[in-house]
Amino acid sequence: MMIQETTVLWNRMAAKGYYRLGLAISGGFDHAQPGQFVMVRVGSDNQPLLRRPFSLLGLIREEGRVSGIEILFKVVGQGTEKLAGCRKGERLSVIGPLGNAFLVPDTCRQLILVAGGVGVPPIRFLAQSLLEREGGLDRCVVFIGGRTRDDLVCISEFDLPGFLLDISTDDGSQGNPGW
Ligand SMILES: Cc1cc2nc3c(=O)[nH]c(=O)nc-3n(C[C@H](O)[C@H](O)[C@H](O)COP(=O)(O)OP(=O)(O)OC[C@H]3O[C@@H](n4cnc5c(N)ncnc54)[C@H](O)[C@@H]3O)c2cc1C
Repeated sequence: MMIQETTVLWNRMAAKGYYRLGLAISGGFDHAQPGQFVMVRVGSDNQPLLRRPFSLLGLIREEGRVSGIEILFKVVGQGTEKLAGCRKGERLSVIGPLGNAFLVPDTCRQLILVAGGVGVPPIRFLAQSLLEREGGLDRCVVFIGGRTRDDLVCISEFDLPGFLLDISTDDGSQGNPGW
């Protein structure tokens, strides 16, 4: 775990109210794993004062080393609103990787993953890592939920070999209706 100044590589709207933020890092994430998160200082004027936590959506690799991280966030308040305004080249202080990773034993060949809304980013990271694992997986069923279809983030990224995706929304705007 380390504290470092990162540089914004991109900050793109992924869906209504959701952004994908790519950050160039100087190091420290070579062993980062799905389920871990970072604490981001939003802006340089200490407004808001406290860092905000975001799960790792994935690692950016260049020539065999981890050169960046990606997060996906939903705009809900002061901090994420400010983060949505960040432009390429801006600097953001980040602490991480923090927290525990998901533990999936090597012997586990069939898996069920369940996530919804802003809980999807670490599950997307996990799905990708499991595929890259030696021997891969036999089968994985992924249940993704959201309040409405606008809250279904990253679903196309679960279109992976051996993966079966099952979608639900509270309002029934996509997939199984939640009533
Ligand atoms: C370990 C961890 C990992 C996370 N990973 C992700 C992730 O990958 N992606 C993601 O999008 N989020 C993630 N979150 C959630 C994310 O950290 C929060 O959404 C974020 O910190 C909100 O910051 P903010 O300043 O925008 O909102 P805040 O201003 O802190 O507000 C948060 C919530 O409180 C409400 N609120 C604010 N002020 C008031 C008030 N006065 N009265 C009533 N309600 C109020 C807001 O409407 C909002 O719903 C994660 C959280 C944790 C703990």
